[in-house]
Amino acid sequence: MGLLAQGSPLSWEDTKRHADHVRRHGILQFLHIYHAVKDRHKDVLKWGDEVEYMLVSFDHENKKVQLVLSGEDVLETLQEKGERTNPNHPTLWRPEYGSYMIEGTPGQPYGGTMSEFNTVQDNMRKRRQEATSVLGENQALCTITSFPRLGCPGFTLPEYKPNPVEGGASKSLFFPDEAINKHPRFSTLTRNIRHRRGEKVVINVPIFKDKNTPSPFVEAFADEEAARAAQPDHIYMDAMGFGMGNCCLQVTFQACSISEARYLYDQLATICPIVMALSAASPFYRGYVSDIDCRWGVISASVDDRTREERGLEPLKTSNYRISKSRYDSIDSYLSKCGEKYNDIDLTIDKGIYEQLLKEGIDHLLAQHVAHLFIRDPLTLFEEKIHMDDANESDHFENIQSTNWQTMRFKPPPPNSDIGWRVEFRPMEVQLTDFENSAYVVFVVLLTRVILSYKLDFLIPLSKVDENMKTAQRRDAVLQGMFYFRKDICKGGHAVVDGCGKAQSSAELAAEEYGLMSIDTIINGKEGVFPGLIPILNSYLENMEVDVDTRCSILNYLKLIKKRASGQLMTVARWMREFIANHPDYKQDSVVTDAMNYSLLVKCNQIANEQCECPELLGSAFRRRAKDGASKADSDSSK
Ligand code: GLU
Ligand code: MG
Repeated sequence: MGLLAQGSPLSWEDTKRHADHVRRHGILQFLHIYHAVKDRHKDVLKWGDEVEYMLVSFDHENKKVQLVLSGEDVLETLQEKGERTNPNHPTLWRPEYGSYMIEGTPGQPYGGTMSEFNTVQDNMRKRRQEATSVLGENQALCTITSFPRLGCPGFTLPEYKPNPVEGGASKSLFFPDEAINKHPRFSTLTRNIRHRRGEKVVINVPIFKDKNTPSPFVEAFADEEAARAAQPDHIYMDAMGFGMGNCCLQVTFQACSISEARYLYDQLATICPIVMALSAASPFYRGYVSDIDCRWGVISASVDDRTREERGLEPLKTSNYRISKSRYDSIDSYLSKCGEKYNDIDLTIDKGIYEQLLKEGIDHLLAQHVAHLFIRDPLTLFEEKIHMDDANESDHFENIQSTNWQTMRFKPPPPNSDIGWRVEFRPMEVQLTDFENSAYVVFVVLLTRVILSYKLDFLIPLSKVDENMKTAQRRDAVLQGMFYFRKDICKGGHAVVDGCGKAQSSAELAAEEYGLMSIDTIINGKEGVFPGLIPILNSYLENMEVDVDTRCSILNYLKLIKKRASGQLMTVARWMREFIANHPDYKQDSVVTDAMNYSLLVKCNQIANEQCECPELLGSAFRRRAKDGASKADSDSSK
């Protein structure tokens, strides 16, 4: 989750005092990088995935599953045995927000050849085995997006009672500070978001109304702030951990040049809501069945540091701007020339920074992108890290950049490195198995290949992408949702990455260029309406030299995506809902008890370790890579 500095974190008041300093030097650092590498090109395609994991412990006797707060120790062991011992170690491990979380990536980025697609699942399997091997008895590594009973009494091991005091990090009634990663960055972020906002964060997720769910559904809170913030018919949550304590699956690409990176950033931004709905995996919050399938809005609210003035609830007095979105949200402007005409969202920018960037020779689109990111204050600052060498360090730039958690991230190269311009694709929910996670990753990477090779154009007005983001999170959006999507994706004619198709008035565009489509139509195509992304990928693959084994793996991955889109297979969210609905203890009252959570997680863990089939989720014939068929997961994951 970004930059980790060591040292003494400052309070919000002190951080705020340095906010302009951080912004000023952050921009100078960005300018140094930009001028040094703006003309860099011919970088090769490299890419990598990031998987976030939860550590869980099964109490088989009492039928209870808890999150184990040992992430820091597990991480230390994994790094010691891995990257610190062998610089070519195949996996890398990083901390994440929850003390029960870790993040794993391949040791080296993947390259541009097709056969690399055949190594993704093996690497994910290696990560799972490696981390599992250092866990305690009855513990397991789970790739679940949200832990169904996160924030319920005793959800951690060891158990802690929340201590909602002003001096703490979250001041949560439900989520104890002990469940936050012990690195000071994470608790400081938590506390400073709350202090900047002026009150605790507020998350209200609509409850799923089942037959016996009280209506209206109202929880009585003695605590005044909670009583005020909790909405009827919603599951109320009050801490950053409810959001950033969720797991996701991300992919980062290195583009060959800055303009290719900007083109990919824009194109993939339109794909974010579609793939998010396809990856939906988080239907339960704080022990209740919700009416949403994706974590996105929950995280967004969980790190919303905007003041009441910035949120438009009070007239502007001490804040500088009204800000329409949380720091964790969808992107607000396209970056490529072709995207410009679709930038129809009001963009709040720091005007001084914008002017400065223009003066330094940066174009309008990039300047406004950066000037928009820089309306935010730094959230953490370490006393030892206030004064930096702007020509050779980028901490202040990264400070602001890495706490703008958007659907896409445009990443300038680090100073003095051989890394190129990159973009990160961030909306996906993590899946139960390495097979599914590989499938989603490979699908997205292949899509970038096709976008670049066929010069595809998915752009629609950004406000429509935002509407899609809302639709995507709804229950069963993958089957029920209708999404704005561009109809003729070849017509735009991005003949070259920097150039654009023929000029059209925006009214003309609005009328004919895009329409509402189901995910099935977008992914699988519909005669006379839309060709479908999978058929396009397949025709691309037909023209590529691919060895048989790799082709077989890719086809299996695409089959999963295809069937999830058509409804032949369930999303993880749908499957989890049905599992709970059919649980003998379930009283149709939207409550997920400890025992139900236990059964669900036991099952998830068995599926992840190939100890049982789950055809409704994965299909039957194609869950393992052909090559792995023999090497079953015989390692016992829940020792
Ligand atoms: N866990 C966060 C999510 O689910 C992402 C944190 C990160 O950026 O690494 O989106
Ligand atoms: Mg992460």
